[in-house]
Order: sequence, then structure tokens, then C-alpha cells
Amino acid sequence: MSETTPMMAQWKSCKEEAKEALLFFRLGDFYEAFYDDAETISRTLGLTLTARQLIPMCGVPFHTLDGHIDKLIAHGYKVAIAEQVEEAKDIKGLVRREIVRVITPGSLIQSSLLSDKSNNYFAAIAQAGKKIAVAYIDISTGEFRSLSDSKIEAVLNEVARLPIAEWIASPLLQKTHPTFFKELSIQRPFLLNTRPILDLAVAEAVLTAQLGMNKVSLTAAELAACGTLLLHLKEELSLNLDHVVSLQPHAAADTMSLDRSTFANLEILEGKQGKKGSLFALLDETSTAMGGRLLKQWLQKPLLNVSLINARQSQVEALLHNTPKRARLRALFRQVKDLERLKMKVVAGYATPRDLLTLTQSITIISEAEGVPVENELFSVAGAIARSFIDTPPLRVSDGALFRHDVHPSLADFRKEADASTEWVAAYQVRLREETGIKTLKVGYTRAFGYYIEVSRLQAEKMPPQFVRTQTLTNAERYTTEALKTFERSVLGAEERAAAFEAELFTTFIGQMKSYAPAIQRIAHWTAEQDVLVALSQVAEDQRFTKPLVDTSNVLYIEGGRHPIVAATLPTGQPFIPNDTRLDDQEQMMLITGPNMAGKSTYIRQVALIVILAQIGSFVPARSAHIGVVDRVFSRIGASDDLARGQSTFMVEMSETAHILHNATSRSLVLLDEIGRGTSTYDGIAIAWAVAEYLLTSEGQKAKTLFATHYWELTGLEDRFPWAKNYQTAVQEIASGIVFLRQIVRGGTDKSYGIHVAKLAGLPSKALDRAEAILRQLEQRPRRKVAQSHVDQLVFL
Ligand code: ATP
Repeated sequence: MSETTPMMAQWKSCKEEAKEALLFFRLGDFYEAFYDDAETISRTLGLTLTARQLIPMCGVPFHTLDGHIDKLIAHGYKVAIAEQVEEAKDIKGLVRREIVRVITPGSLIQSSLLSDKSNNYFAAIAQAGKKIAVAYIDISTGEFRSLSDSKIEAVLNEVARLPIAEWIASPLLQKTHPTFFKELSIQRPFLLNTRPILDLAVAEAVLTAQLGMNKVSLTAAELAACGTLLLHLKEELSLNLDHVVSLQPHAAADTMSLDRSTFANLEILEGKQGKKGSLFALLDETSTAMGGRLLKQWLQKPLLNVSLINARQSQVEALLHNTPKRARLRALFRQVKDLERLKMKVVAGYATPRDLLTLTQSITIISEAEGVPVENELFSVAGAIARSFIDTPPLRVSDGALFRHDVHPSLADFRKEADASTEWVAAYQVRLREETGIKTLKVGYTRAFGYYIEVSRLQAEKMPPQFVRTQTLTNAERYTTEALKTFERSVLGAEERAAAFEAELFTTFIGQMKSYAPAIQRIAHWTAEQDVLVALSQVAEDQRFTKPLVDTSNVLYIEGGRHPIVAATLPTGQPFIPNDTRLDDQEQMMLITGPNMAGKSTYIRQVALIVILAQIGSFVPARSAHIGVVDRVFSRIGASDDLARGQSTFMVEMSETAHILHNATSRSLVLLDEIGRGTSTYDGIAIAWAVAEYLLTSEGQKAKTLFATHYWELTGLEDRFPWAKNYQTAVQEIASGIVFLRQIVRGGTDKSYGIHVAKLAGLPSKALDRAEAILRQLEQRPRRKVAQSHVDQLVFL
């Protein structure tokens, strides 16, 4: 082999097409990589690098390809696959090879990297005029959505919550919005493809070709993003997108918007220590992958529409009170595989025999569920297809033997013919033994060489001359005869006919299922939704949640509220102390003072989580709750250092605060935790005071606010703004120190008990004693007076 062989010329043209993707080139039973690709692959996967005529090579057996691809993708590479697109036996000379797929992180179909309960999106961003739009597709399910906004920040807030594994952006956009991808990379890793965005007319044509008449009214930026994304997937990645049949808006108009830092702070999908400890992890009692993904989507987009919320709530309630139905549905759902992803494979032509069997079996199982949409035709066709398969069909159609004998009389006939071979071979062996007198003569079969007659070396000379020698093994000789050849042709003929028949049957079945795609989608959606509702009712029972009253009033009343995650994870014997919340027109802000570790952060987060739970239609961790729909939840929590952004903690704190003050409405819920701590005390107090005041007056739209602070000076706000109420975290002083009671009670406190907390944390007693002495000295100085007068100046300026 050399660079100039026709095969290498073929490889070269594939490689040109594959560009930066690592190319796996099919050669018989192997996929081979050459040159730099071979070196990268061998280094990344720890495979042996070989060389032929100085060309570095690295190959993997064909049946192990998927695992290798997954590893390369996980390392951030793209992979292209060139297959033989002609049958070797049908042509003379070199078999044609073409790139059949390019696999990238955002375009996974069959991969261990696809997590069942997560979507995997591929997105494109485009700008047209003042609008910036993002279009995104989950290729594994066919979900296709778009959004646009005139502010890049708003777009960022929306997409930062989505598991987007790969992006397309033009060089210009990357230049004009340099921080967009930097911000996203803080949330999760992704691959960025730089390519120009299509002209509007072309983009529109691409979109129309994909969706036909299902066109929706889109902004120019959305059109550009959608068209560019579709074209890239089809042309660059050779993907079949037949399953992408409609475009939906990113979110219905009536969903709550949650900015990215609030979403992260409240640990909705991911806890600070990974997936565990998140609200999703607590609620995820779903039994199917589809249900898991839908629950995530509900958490990403809580509802604003009271009747939709109530509709979900009453279903959760009905399931909560009907334990047997819940148990039956869960038992069924546990047996159901990923209908959405299986349907996608069927429609787009990626389904294996096992996929088709799993899909039809799952549909048959679901058809028994109470309340399932009536799709009788689909159920009966799916049932018949499922029954046609043998129990464990092979992975590839070409392996044959997919279906039961009784599927069709012709198949039974072909099989009978093929099966008769065993008897014929046995009889032929007996006859030959008699004729030759060689008792150990064997008639056998191998895939590579076909049928043969075998005798040991020593017996070879006894073989009659009309036997043609075909192979010499170490201790044996193999022969064939005219009779054996004729027989082989007839057997292979029957087998081939059986295989062709099965392949055709498989294609027919795939076609049938494809024609039911919309019905399968309805069933999948119903299953996902029921699965989530069952999960929410299960959680309500397990965690003793109650049904909140959700309406359009302007109140937020919670009695005996609990932080669902903290309450569920406290060590046994340590009860969670429930607390009340009252926010309405008269009590717009709760100013909560108290020492570190007393439970302030837990408390303010719990209120937001209860609101979010209520608005996804769930029950809530409280004795009772009355929630007037909240349009947005904002939070400024914790001193998260932002080295990745290259901004100081204080800068991040202030820009998040600015975002809140600019966007909060009278229906918003604002959580502020320790604002102003990143700067000097006086600066900090001044800013905290001004922010609170802004929110308490009409400029700040009087958003409902939970304000946790160390600055006891802020308790003075209650006198000037009676709709701000002081609360504190109750602490009991005992001889050996303090006990946190975890209760939020009326009144402010100027005690911070910092030294007590330091003691609890184990500071050496010498340092503690010294701190006590310094504190006593400082307290004798008129410190507070200075602080108070400073604040008074601010207030009265
Ligand atoms: P810091 O200002 O240092 O953040 P904090 O006052 O905000 O302190 P939290 O972090 O809310 O305190 O709570 C500290 C710990 O106390 C929590 O991790 C939790 O284990 C426990 N805790 C908080 N609230 C309660 C409660 N209501 N019932 C029982 N335990 C609680």
C-alpha cells in the first residue's frame, strides 16, 4: 500500500470531506485511521499504532466502533465514518466508500454519552438587525425550538440553562459578543463551530424544505439561526432529519423566567456538589427517560398560568389519593424504554432490529396503561411487529434470523430448505465414510470457506482422486466435490432468500412504524407527562408535601415551610425547623438579621423553592401555602468568586444586583443574601440600604423581597418604610455558648455571635480569647454611633 494506491486516493477524498473530524475508514472487518488521525486516536484511546509502507495506521474491529467513538467525543473530538457503500461481491475492483456520518458532541444518536434523563442540544446563534436568536435541536428526540431577543443578556439567561453540547456561530458574532461563549463555558463545556450564517432567503428555503407547511412566524434572526443549524446538520454531518417535523417556541409566553445565576444558586438541576442535592434529584421519582427529561423542562420553565398550574395540581392530587393506580402506572412505566429516541431512530433510518423490537414492545406495554390516548391501529400494528421478532434479535439486519418462522409462509419455506442442510450433511458424511472407508472423515462448514470435507493428514492418500483439495491445515486436509458444491449453492440460495425476505420485512415494519410517528409522539408525550405527575405525587407522599393554593392574588403566605433538600438530607435525629413567611402589600420585605450559620440562607432559598414547586404544579414542603403567581425569581446569593469571568467578587455581586433592580416587577420575588459584603463596611451598609430602599419604593416596583443581612443598621428601615419588617434568626445563649433555634422570629438583632461561631468551627482558644478582648475594646468605642450617623446622612441626603 502506498499513498498512490486507488484506496488511499479514496481515503484522501473522504478525509478532505471530513476536515478536522477524525476519519474511521471501513476496510473489511476493521475501521482504520491513517496519518495524524491514527496518531491522535492511538494516543487518546491507548491503541497500538502500526505502519504500512511508512503510513501510520490505527484500526479497531468494526463491532467495537461505538465505544471508541464515545471516548473520542468525550475527549472533545469529532469523528467521521466512511463506510463501504457497495457490496464487495457485486463489483469488480475497489468498493466505493463514502462518509455516512460525522459524529460530534451535539449530534449523538446512539451513544453511551447520551444520558437518559437529559436532552442533548445542538444550537446556532444568529443576529439580524437588532435581534439575536438561538435555534436548538435535540437530534436524539427531534425537539426543535427557537427564541430571539434584542438583549444578548436575555438570550444568555435562557440558553445557559439548556444542556447545549455544541454551537454554531459566525466569526462576526463571536467578535461582537465576546463574552457570550465565555459565560456559557462557565456553565458547561461545549464545542464551538465557526461558520457563516445563511442569508435570509436561503435560510427560509432550508426551513420550508424541512418543515413543509408547518412554518411559524419567526424573526429574521430566528430564520437565519434555524436555517443555518439545519443545513449544517444535514450537509456537514450527513444527518437524516426526517424526524424533525415542527419548530416550537423556546418557551410559552406564560412561563416564569429564571436567570442563570438564580437557577444555579437555587440548585434546581444541579447541586453545588454535582447532581445530587439538587431539587431535580429530590423530585426525580420518574421511571422513564422521557419523564426525567420532561421534569427537567418543567423545572426550567415554571408556569404563570393559574389554570394550567391547577390542572397539573389536580392530577397530582388524584394520583396521590389513588395509590393502586400510581403503583400500576409505575410498574408499567418501569418497563417502557425511551419511545422518543426510538421513534427518532425509526423515522430517520437509524433503527436496528433491537430498536424496532424495543419500540414496539414498549408501545404494547403502554397500551395497557389507564387513560392512555386511544391509538388502536398503532397498538395492534406494534403488537404484531413485536410478536414477529425472535426474543433477542441480532444488532444488524444483515446478520439475518430476526423473525420467528411463523411470521410468513415463505420465510418458513426458506428456513426449512436451509435447515434441511443439517440432515443432508449428516447423511452425506455417512455416505462418504462408507465410500472411502475413512471413519474419521468429517463434513463441516465455516463462514469464510463454506462447506468442506476434512480428513487427517495420514488418511489423505486414501481420498479418491475426484475429490478436489481446497485447504491444507496443520494436521488435516480439506476437500470439496461437485455434489457438495451444488448442495452449497442451494443452501446458500435458501439462506440468502431467507435473509433478503427478512430484510424486506424489516423495511416494511420500519415503514409502518414511521407512518405512525405522530401517534407514537402522542403516546410518548402522554407517558412522559403521566410519569412526571406520578413522580410528583410520590414525592408529595414521601416528603409530606401539601397542595398550595395558587392564584393571581398578591400574597405569598407560607405556614410551616421547609427547605425540601436540607430537610431531606439532615442527619437522623436532627429535625428540620419549619418557618412561616408572610409577604403581601403590607409586608413587602422581610429583613432578616442574625449570626452566621443560623439558617438565614436556608430560609430565603426555601421560600423561592416553594414558589417554584408550586408553579410547576407540584405540592410543596409546607403545612399550608397560598401563592399569588410570581413572574420571576431573582437572587443575589453568596460570594461566588468569579475567576473564570475575570471579575472580582464584588463586581459580580454589583452587576447581579443591578440586573435585579432593573428587571424586578411587583410580581417578582427577590432574594438578597448578604449584599454589600465585598467592600468596606460603610460602603457596604450604604449600598445595602440604598438597594433595599429602591426595592421598597415604586422605582423598584415594590417586589416581594427577602433580605438577609449582617448589617444590623438596616433594621432602621422598618421605621421609615413600615412595609419592611424586621426578622431575626432566634438564638439561645447558654453557659457554654449559643444554640441556633433555626426559627425566624419578629425583630432585629445587632448580635452577630461571630466569635461563638468561630469557636464552633474550632479556632484555637488563644485566638478566641484574643478576639474576645479586642471585641470588648472595640465595643467601648462609639463605633455604632458613627455607623448610624453615616446611615442617617445617607437616608436624609
Ligand atoms: P451564613 O450566613 O454563614 O450563610 P446562614 O445563617 O445563612 O449562615 P444556613 O447556611 O442557612 O445559615 O444554615 C446553616 C445550616 O443550618 C444548614 O446547613 C442546615 O444544616 C442547618 N439549618 C438551617 N436551617 C435549618 C432549619 N430550619 N432546621 C434545621 N436545620 C437548619
